[in-house]
Amino acid sequence: MKIYEKAPAKINLMLDVLHKRPDGYHEVEMIMTMVDLADRLEMEALSRDTIIISSQAGYIPLDEKNLAFQAAKLIKERYNVRSGVYIHLDKNIPVAAGLAGGSSDAAATLRGLNRLWDLNIPVEELKQLGAELGSDVPFCITGGTALATGRGEQLTPLPNPPQCWVVLAKLPINVSTAEIYGRFRSDQVKEHPSADRMRTAIERSSFPEVCGELGNVLEEVTLRLYPEVAHLKETMLKLGADGVLMSGSGPTVFGLVSKESKAFRIYNGLRGFCKEVYAVRLLT
Ligand code: ATP
Repeated sequence: MKIYEKAPAKINLMLDVLHKRPDGYHEVEMIMTMVDLADRLEMEALSRDTIIISSQAGYIPLDEKNLAFQAAKLIKERYNVRSGVYIHLDKNIPVAAGLAGGSSDAAATLRGLNRLWDLNIPVEELKQLGAELGSDVPFCITGGTALATGRGEQLTPLPNPPQCWVVLAKLPINVSTAEIYGRFRSDQVKEHPSADRMRTAIERSSFPEVCGELGNVLEEVTLRLYPEVAHLKETMLKLGADGVLMSGSGPTVFGLVSKESKAFRIYNGLRGFCKEVYAVRLLT
């Protein structure tokens, strides 16, 4: 039997880092939502007790470093599953891009294997398993829109923002999330974005207010290291995006756009100098 799971990319509408905790993690406040740019996972039960990962993407690990492998191993061990699984990752989400591609693959693996192996694990338990794999995994289990606090794993569901176009562009730079957090200094933050104001904008379903409240304190770190990301942001704004922000620790920059014609003008404008550009809708 084969089953399929969609693993969408996430964007941060706001991201604030409050402080570094004694356990080494940063205390964050983020509002995250999903966009309709997704990996597709194909899972097939194997009678042999093994986990096999394949992908058309040549640039991700296929061994125990792959987050889908780690998710399969975790659920298999925790629930004493004796059979194996073959997982094919059809990757569409850019890698190491600030779009949580690996976390979303891990979440899709947990959801998929729960079905494939008839484990009937409740969603809250799946989220707890996910938190063992990475801070963004619990959000990716259910998706939607949420306020994430703690190290990102404590979730408060929110309504979805007003529907719009999202133009995403990723320059050919690989950014390490750990390095960006490592270089982050809270005393260098000029302006903290507000989770409360973004939440109100979303609850009011006001597109201009959502655009006005976009903010990510990690931008200062990544833009200082990679000025071309700042240039990409400016270009997107010049081309007419209603709001522009870097997602996560970068380097992907996204623009929110209300009109389809404008979204494709920006898409075409960026394709001139950026190979990885996407124009998608919010996943609402
Ligand atoms: P985040 O926003 O959560 O920091 P990201 O989008 O920046 O994530 P990923 O695409 O998840 O980054 O990849 C981060 C690293 O994880 C890469 O170095 C990649 O080699 C590795 N990795 C492991 N499993 C996967 C997977 N299934 N898909 C993509 N990358 C993976």
